Amino acid sequence: MNGFGDIWNEEIFYSAVSRYRREFQGGSNKDLIASLFGSNTQVAPIDLPNHLQAFVSRLSPIHSLTLDHIIDFHTLYPYHSAFLDTKAALGLRAQMASSSERYSLGRYGHNRGKASTRSPLRYCAECVRVDRASFGEAYFHRVHQIDIVHVCPQHSLVLEDAIKCGGNQHRAPREFISLEELDPFEEGRGFEELASGAHYLNLAKKADWLIKATLPKRCPEHFRAHYHKALIELELMTFRYQKQHGAVAQMVSDFFDRELLDELGAMISPSSRNNWISAVMNMSGNYGSPIYHLLLAEFLSIDLESLFETEAPGYFGKGPWPCLNPLCSNYGNECIKAVAVSASGRPYRISGTFRCRCGFSYLRYGPDFEGVNKHSYDRVIDYGRVWQKHLRNKWTDSKCTRRALASELGVSQASVYRYAHKLGLLTNNNHRTEMAS
Ligand SMILES: [Zn+2]
Ligand SMILES: [Zn+2]
Repeated sequence: MNGFGDIWNEEIFYSAVSRYRREFQGGSNKDLIASLFGSNTQVAPIDLPNHLQAFVSRLSPIHSLTLDHIIDFHTLYPYHSAFLDTKAALGLRAQMASSSERYSLGRYGHNRGKASTRSPLRYCAECVRVDRASFGEAYFHRVHQIDIVHVCPQHSLVLEDAIKCGGNQHRAPREFISLEELDPFEEGRGFEELASGAHYLNLAKKADWLIKATLPKRCPEHFRAHYHKALIELELMTFRYQKQHGAVAQMVSDFFDRELLDELGAMISPSSRNNWISAVMNMSGNYGSPIYHLLLAEFLSIDLESLFETEAPGYFGKGPWPCLNPLCSNYGNECIKAVAVSASGRPYRISGTFRCRCGFSYLRYGPDFEGVNKHSYDRVIDYGRVWQKHLRNKWTDSKCTRRALASELGVSQASVYRYAHKLGLLTNNNHRTEMAS
């Protein structure tokens, strides 16, 4: 049990531990970590701390802090997990609670930004002034520690580096240092002083919203469908996304300043297919870094609330969809409840496969968000048992002409012949003669 105090509103966990060290300890960083976490780890992670279950178990029994409260309100978990699905988010949460090795976000396509020249700890001069007036001391706010945030979303001031570093690369501090020990200024600089200041302010507001909102968990396909729809509405995409892929990459690159993209580790080479836009947009199951999602949402003018709350637009409009087998009792009726969406080919095209209970299945290229092409297909995948049965029965019916049979089956005469061959019906000499005539 230890005398750990309270955490201020929106204070990052690292900062609360640092204040505790300043006020109550005085021992080494190693002793502090041993007493708070029961561990001899030397790191002082800022964004996604772990060992949190051990930390909570060492608090006084009457302390109101819980594991969930720390993760949700005092770490960058809500930011890093926003675009993960339930399984991955739970994995990250479990890792933060545990005392095993730190979780790697890299496998989910997260980008940690380039080796930034910024300090790993930042503050806003006006927040310092307000916090000193309200709480008697300044502290590190969690939103300011997000990689994409260069401006205080509340006061529109450029964030100041708390730890000045002579080198060109900052690393996470090896010790817990409180903001007051670093003698922060109270004089701020307006966001206009930054090149692309307006973009930085918008991104900071988006990131701030992201860490404070209670969001439903969504899968990568959900976000992708929203982006595809927005690209189509802006006439930046046809159904062959990749065909215009270079043009979209160029526009994103032009929309944001190159320096901003470079700073955020999100540079795009329009000539290369392997950039972050294609990683987020293709169907590889990649989650994509929150940076990429926020940049895309900003570029496409997508409101984050609707991105999360609105159900993903269906790539083929609203179901159910019709059976297009003229011999099915449900022909033309909307009886197919599900569509299997996939991406195929290189460059890829989004396609939907529709399958009726009669065995008939067809493929249609999309997206077709409004479902305007609902009653057509690009290719039949399988004619199915009902259709084949009709062909078998009529093949031996001498009264049925080749033309009439093709019309009944809804295909060309050549297709009827081809299919009859496939089904081994061409041994019937009478009909073969007719077909060949
Ligand atoms: Zn501020
Ligand atoms: Zn059918």
